[in-house]
Amino acid sequence: MSNQNDVKFADFPLSETIHQSLDQAGFERPLPIQAACIPPALEGKDVIGLAQTGTGKTAAFAIPIIQRLANKMELGALVLAPTRELAAQITAAFNELGKSSGLRVATIVGGVPMEQDFAALRSWPNVLVATPGRLNDHIENGRLLLDEIEVLVVDEADRMHDMGFIPQIHRIIAALPRKRQTMMFTATMADDVERIARKNMRDPVRIQIGITAPAHRAKQEIFELAEDAKRPLLLKLLRKSTGRVLVFARTKRGVDSLTRIVNARRLKAAKIHGDLEQGHRDESLANFRSGHCPILIATDIAARGLDVSGIEHVINYDFPHNAEDYVHRIGRTARVEASGLATSFATPLDRRFVNDVRKLIGDKLPKPTRLESYSVASTKVTPEKKPKGRYRSGRRSGSQRRAATKSG
Ligand code: ADP
Repeated sequence: MSNQNDVKFADFPLSETIHQSLDQAGFERPLPIQAACIPPALEGKDVIGLAQTGTGKTAAFAIPIIQRLANKMELGALVLAPTRELAAQITAAFNELGKSSGLRVATIVGGVPMEQDFAALRSWPNVLVATPGRLNDHIENGRLLLDEIEVLVVDEADRMHDMGFIPQIHRIIAALPRKRQTMMFTATMADDVERIARKNMRDPVRIQIGITAPAHRAKQEIFELAEDAKRPLLLKLLRKSTGRVLVFARTKRGVDSLTRIVNARRLKAAKIHGDLEQGHRDESLANFRSGHCPILIATDIAARGLDVSGIEHVINYDFPHNAEDYVHRIGRTARVEASGLATSFATPLDRRFVNDVRKLIGDKLPKPTRLESYSVASTKVTPEKKPKGRYRSGRRSGSQRRAATKSG
């Protein structure tokens, strides 16, 4: 493993055009997952990569596919991704690294007009990047023949599982030739994911890239506080921040209401969650990427795999109920070489979830700092000088007290 640092792209039998594209992309050396994955993938072996997003796995499977399919006419590779955003990012990576090798990539995702798919399919792609639902529509209606597929990639298999896509994936695999190369990437090996591997892969090479890698790089802090103290603290942190901030809320409604509140304070926030139209999601991402909206408020599923560089601060407004989501979320601020800050809010009811994360990543998780209600008042989160009882020195309002009693 230690000499993986010395591996160079020049060590791999890749075409000159791929080397040029790697140079142009500024990829000087392979990242660990690439160093481990590219050689067996080039030999046509099946590969299981256990790695988080942000570790460079897209190029780890894209480079061998480009090498194999460049200048072929047939649709030879299918890449399945759980979300539209991830599919778009994978397509962009294929284009960046494969265009000069003559690779043609098409994307098939839900939430866009069918005509767009027909145009994509007419472009004679040799790589198709798709989300499972829409792809199945086309397969079932006989609009898409996948009998020339040589390589299947299932990206973020664990998230596919969480999103209920496993039956769809089985159906898609049934439409593929049996003789093919299969690569699967996942952050964790859930039973269902293991089952897909056992049933559909031949003697796969297993590659594991440290599960907590992102956690090493981001500085982390946790505040334990009451539910009603979270909003004032969030506004305070957002006012202080200078760079891009990604805020996670648990529910779509939570994202909607936080976005309204933040924008009402003249802090520019965009939002992203699964119920928004694709156009709205694209616009939010574009505004966040360009810095027009330096704050993005998101649910886990929508934010999964987002590749936005320069996120300085991730705020877990709602503490994740799933320990792996914690690692994914804070990984957003420490992609590849950058490092950042991850702040988490946890109410006393979240203690067991904090413990779950500690079990997963150990002492890298700091001890929570308790913020009593008076310390929230002392944070002076009141630009609107007289909040007319809204924050009442950190004491709860009647409705908040009622809500607390209900949930307790
Ligand atoms: P993942 O697929 O694991 O989420 P990506 O493949 O999107 O990760 O890689 C994350 C970021 O790292 C992207 O911005 C990508 O362009 C960049 N990257 C990937 N490989 C390299 C490399 N060898 N050198 C430098 N940057 C890289």
